[in-house]
This record gives sequence, C-alpha cells and structure tokens, in this order.
Amino acid sequence: MDHPFSETEIPGLSKSRYVAGLQCPLLLYHKVNSPALFSPEPFAQYQFDQGKAAGRLATKLYEGVRIPEFPLEESLAKTKKALDEGKENIFEAAFSFQGIHVKVDILVNHGDGHVDIIEVKSSTKVKDQHFDDLAIQRFVLEGNDLSVDSAFLLHMNPDYRHPDGPLFLLSDESSAVDARMKDIPENLRAIRKVLRAKEPPKTDIGPHCGKPDDCPLKKQCWKHIPELSIFNIPNLRSEKWEFYKQGIVEIGQLPDWFKGKPYQKPFLDSCKTGKPIIDKPGLKSKLAELKEPLYFMDFETLMLAVPAHAGTKPWQQLTVQWSVHALKNGKLEHREFIHDSAGDPRIPFIESLLEVLGDSGSIIVYSAPFETGRLEEIAEAFPQYRERIDKVIARVWDQLLVFKNHYCDSRFKGSNSLKKVLPVIVPELSYKGLDVQEGGTAMAEYARMVSLPAGKEKDKIKNSLLEYCKLDTLAMVEILGKLKGV
Ligand code: SF4
Repeated sequence: MDHPFSETEIPGLSKSRYVAGLQCPLLLYHKVNSPALFSPEPFAQYQFDQGKAAGRLATKLYEGVRIPEFPLEESLAKTKKALDEGKENIFEAAFSFQGIHVKVDILVNHGDGHVDIIEVKSSTKVKDQHFDDLAIQRFVLEGNDLSVDSAFLLHMNPDYRHPDGPLFLLSDESSAVDARMKDIPENLRAIRKVLRAKEPPKTDIGPHCGKPDDCPLKKQCWKHIPELSIFNIPNLRSEKWEFYKQGIVEIGQLPDWFKGKPYQKPFLDSCKTGKPIIDKPGLKSKLAELKEPLYFMDFETLMLAVPAHAGTKPWQQLTVQWSVHALKNGKLEHREFIHDSAGDPRIPFIESLLEVLGDSGSIIVYSAPFETGRLEEIAEAFPQYRERIDKVIARVWDQLLVFKNHYCDSRFKGSNSLKKVLPVIVPELSYKGLDVQEGGTAMAEYARMVSLPAGKEKDKIKNSLLEYCKLDTLAMVEILGKLKGV
C-alpha cells in the first residue's frame, strides 16, 4: 500500500497516542509533551491493573514466546528473530515504521510473511475505538512487509460465569479494520503537524471531550466554564454544543425561546429564582410511604475483571461492605460490615446484613437499582436467601427519587447524586477530610486493603473505608431530617 511519510518520520508515536490523536489534537500534544498531567486517579489505575491481569491471562490461551517490553531496539530485534525462526505465536511483538512503534498483543505467524494480529481487551464488548487500535498496528506491520490476513479482538465474554465456559471471545474485526485503513494517511498527516508544533494546538472543548472516553484534561480545558452553566442542564445533549458555538455558556444567556423540556424546567426555574423548586404535595406523599423503624442502607462493591468466585461474571459488582443506620423510637444506631480477605464475600455479607435489617420498616437507600440489583445477584447465586432477600427488596425506599421528582435546587448542579445533594441540604456534614471521599477510590482502596497482610496499614485502610460508607448512610439520615422540616 501507499505509505504517506516514507521520508518524514513521526517520532514517538504509539498506538495509544494515535488513538488519543484521533480523539483530540490537544490531548495528543499534552500526552507527548506534558506526561506529568496524566497521573491516573486511583480508580483509573485500579481498572488499568485489572485489565492488565486479564491480558496476562488471555495470552495463556496460546503457546508462544514473549518479547521483552524494553529496550525498544532489543524488542524489535527479538521479534524479527522469532519471526525468522518461524515461532507460531509471539506476545508483545514489536514493530516500528516511520517512527511509529506498536506492540501486538498476540501475533500469529503463518509463515511466508503472513500474520494475524490479536488485540486483547478486558472490556466485555467490542468498541468502535478498538478498530483504530488494530488499524494502526496493521499499517505498521504492512510497512514491515508483512501481510495481515486477519485482525482479531480477544475480549471478555459477558456470558461467562465462573468457572464455566470460555472467559474470552475471539472476534474477527478484519472488515471494520479494513474500512479504517483508508483514513490513516490523513490522520497521520494531522498528527505529524501536532507533534512538530512548538505550541499546543488551539483546540476548543466539544463533544470529543467525552468521546470515546472522558478526557483526563477536562479540569484544565474546561476552566472557562462557570460552575453553573448550560452544561449542568439535565440531558441537554447535542443542543448544548449548538448554544456553546453561539457563545452561550451561562443559563442567563439562553434565548427566550428556549423553555426546556418538562424535566429540565425545575432546574431552569431554580437557576432563575435562585431558590429550590419543591413539589410539596409530591414530597409529602413520598415521605408518607415511610414505615418505622427506618433503616438507612448502603453497599460498597469490588469489580474483578477476572472473576474469582463461583457464578460471577467479568467486572461483576461484588458486594464487600455495608453500612446500616437504624432509627428506632427516635434512637439512632449504627452497624457495619466489611469483608477483609480475598475470599468470597457474598455469604458473610448477606448473613450479617439480614441479621440487622429486622422484619419490618422501610429500608432507605440512595439510587435503589444499585442496592436491589446487588441483592438480586446474591439471591440468584444463593437461592437459600431468595425469600428473605425478596422481603428486603419489597421494603426498599429510594431517597434519590425525592430529588428526581419533587425537589430541585440549582446548587445540585443538575445532578441528583448524594455527593451533590448533601452539601446543599446538610452543609454541616461533609466528605472533605475523609481519606476516602468517593466510590471509585473506595473500590481501589478496598482492593489494596485485601491484598495486604494483617497489620497497621491494612487496619488504616479498613477504617477509612468504614468511615466513608458510614457517612453515606448518615448523610441519608440527616437529609431525611431536613426533608421532614420542609
Ligand atoms: S478536555 Fe477536551 S479539548 Fe481538552 S484535551 Fe481533552 S478532549 Fe481535548
């Protein structure tokens, strides 16, 4: 095929940088020139580590030789040697062409210069951006005079239930990759321009900031957007970008003709008046559903890319911790549980939970599908708990629905999440100052805690996790108190 830069190289371009360049030139520029901006958040690092573990397991499906990752010159030479020696499967096979370096997760060598490429992904489905990832690999391999017969994705099987069935599915994406090949010359031209520039490109924010993945540079690039803006209007979708293009950012700049959909109106009205919009009769009848004693319940979970416990699937939310505040006759009690080893947490979790929930009274959660979904999964895996779990689910009352349907305040910034609602409704209660302040970090810290031997560090993380989950349920107690006073 006709390669565009046989004389002009693009030094330092890798497949991940190529994909970043397709998302946004500014993102690519910073990836290359300011790597310090990209220190991953604990949850992103946790997901990355899980993906790596899945990738290592996937290569065990094949017999092959592994090429050392560094240094590059050695990886390239060893790949060439393995191909020349006719090795059938080569892991992390390294190739370079026009300064673009790629590592093929699994290279299947058919001999006579014919190969297949297999890209391993820990996702449970094929995603559009995977085709670009495979396409740039094929481009570099063809530049090395290899013929890529097929391009595959080896991804996790969403229907896998541990330990039965294949954990990975091999999907032939050759035609989708074929369709991307024609775009590569033009893409590389644009990327070369970015990488040769002395200054960052003047790329404005846009839908690309969240597509295909949420960009880690949003904090910097979105600085000019005020805390409360058109981007906070619930479900404004592509319309917000139309407004942005016209220079409309603040709610007050919206044209008179824009009235918003019925579900956006309370938010817009609250922005206009600066006051909460409360449907008092609706709120009253929602609160009237509550039956004493009241239990406030919250779960924390762990997601394992590679399932470790019977009947679980890849990335399943495994319940590992609960917090319950019980309000009986005006007296508040707190109970909690955390599973602190790597064994199956589900039975100790559900046994301890059922013990504290009693037989009657409302069970208040924040966003019921999460808690009821986890309970359903346990009932499916352990039918001996089905009857008792069904009774618990029937008592669940969702506090989030109050804010979704009856109580809107512009200071929630268009969200109904507990983390946005709490500081407005109960400003005296805060996650600030806790070691763990949100769910993603809690999961990453939990995974670290169970991997540690007994000792001070393990206890410290355990206590931080208990404090965090306890505040989630205490927050619901305090919010309910305020709602009753409205
Ligand atoms: S936040 Fe948006 S504009 Fe900024 S680098 Fe990321 S994708 Fe590009």
